[in-house]
Amino acid sequence: MSGLIGHTTYAMLAAKAAAQRQLPVAPIIEQNYASYLAGSYLGSDIQTLPEAICIDTGQEVGYGTVPVKKSPITGGPVRPWKIELDGKSYRPRDIHSLFYGRAHIVFGWRGEDKRHAIAWEDIPEYISSVVGDAIEIFGPSRRQLAYIFGWATHVVGDSLIKSVHPGLHLHLIDGQYTPKNRPIQDLVTFHEIGVRELGLDWAALLHDLAQTPVEPVQAHYMRCREKGGRLGSHFPDGWDPDKGQLLQIVLAKNREFEANRTSGILKDLALTKDKNGRLNCSPELSAKTGGLSYQEMIEAADQANFRHMLWEMAEAIADLFENVVELQEHLQEMPSSASDPSWEVLTERWKKKA
Ligand SMILES: [Zn+2]
Repeated sequence: MSGLIGHTTYAMLAAKAAAQRQLPVAPIIEQNYASYLAGSYLGSDIQTLPEAICIDTGQEVGYGTVPVKKSPITGGPVRPWKIELDGKSYRPRDIHSLFYGRAHIVFGWRGEDKRHAIAWEDIPEYISSVVGDAIEIFGPSRRQLAYIFGWATHVVGDSLIKSVHPGLHLHLIDGQYTPKNRPIQDLVTFHEIGVRELGLDWAALLHDLAQTPVEPVQAHYMRCREKGGRLGSHFPDGWDPDKGQLLQIVLAKNREFEANRTSGILKDLALTKDKNGRLNCSPELSAKTGGLSYQEMIEAADQANFRHMLWEMAEAIADLFENVVELQEHLQEMPSSASDPSWEVLTERWKKKA
């Protein structure tokens, strides 16, 4: 499974929390929702790539860096997937090593690059600089801002759920975020919370997410362009424009691959009804949890106060948004509601004169 369901959910909940606080980020997100959700996943998880190619069908299979021994389509042989550029080839593992830390900024750096990691306390300054540069270097697009806020939810979300930084209270079966409890988090979030409680249409949301364009500002916040702007002056180290060309190929491929795998993700998470009318998940996902039934997963999530953890997550992200607004004058000048003046106000104001 992927972190797609978790990250998009953190982002959707944080958007609600931001609207509640009447932050100017809320209307930007509301008006560019697909790009916001794209940022919440592809803004950081640049390893969203195929791992191998099924030799019999020619189709791309697997998920970057997770080994694939035989084709999940035919059971037949596979060959490694790679990007070729300037006589060099890059496997998903190489791409992960080169770019993962750059996109997660506070963790995930490899070897020598570890010195470029950003301190947790500096995240608001980093994001505020990126927002300022987006407007001053890349133009007036609000869509790119929504993408940046989506990416910010991933930086915080991944750090908290993976306990890089404390702040969440969750012990679900065997810990906070484990191979055994991940299927529970995904299934309960998708069906019980997403569909039943929040009324989400996942197929539509995930389709739209994958169709959004690459935002040029991503290469800037990953420091894969010429050093510049506010980010360049506040964070002068770690800039590597030579990685820019490869990154552009990776970012485009992320979207193409994400679009292709959406239906497979929906299928993996699908529930079926047995003859007693009980809902069941796939035997594969049940096995990963140590054999829990779907009903037992719902109970385990309830017992662990899983929904309260999601609330903590959304509040932590909204705190970051608030800190970024405090630091970023461009945001302070923007409206906190998309609907002002309301139609009611205009109806009154524009009444036909006698
Ligand atoms: Zn991530």
